[in-house]
Amino acid sequence: MSEDCIFCKIVNGQIPCDKIYEDENCLAFLDIFPKTKGHTLVITKKHIKDVFEATEDDYAKLFTSVNKVCKLLKDKIPCDGIHLIQNNGKAAGPEVLHTHIHLMPRFKDDGKNIFPDKESFKYNDNEKEELLKKLNE
Ligand code: 5GP
Ligand code: ZN
Repeated sequence: MSEDCIFCKIVNGQIPCDKIYEDENCLAFLDIFPKTKGHTLVITKKHIKDVFEATEDDYAKLFTSVNKVCKLLKDKIPCDGIHLIQNNGKAAGPEVLHTHIHLMPRFKDDGKNIFPDKESFKYNDNEKEELLKKLNE
């Protein structure tokens, strides 16, 4: 629990939410500013800042819940696809520093463009080979 964290306040009921799922470790509710119909946040009940602070066990539990909520949305909305997104670290621009996964339902021919940047990243000369070597050390 972190005193000034909005998602901790949702977990302990100080702030209301549109809850759609809950278990021992996680809570799922509709995003207040939805990008698509049914846009949901699955959050840890524990105050964990982000993927870098979390343990493997935290993520095993979180994604067990995410998997259930994806199937719930697919069956009940129903939707044709779902994006799973998490913003970690300043460069990725998170607004709330409490672990949450965005579940953004997609619909056949909905015309949405969640990833507008079509340009691919270009590695310099040996950059990719050096990176690969480092990552496999
Ligand atoms: P982030 O940028 O941290 O990945 O995403 C935070 C998300 O939380 C945003 O999509 C924002 O709309 C949502 N959000 C922020 N405050 C609240 C709130 O009080 N209630 C709900 N339901 N969603 C919130
Ligand atoms: Zn928190």
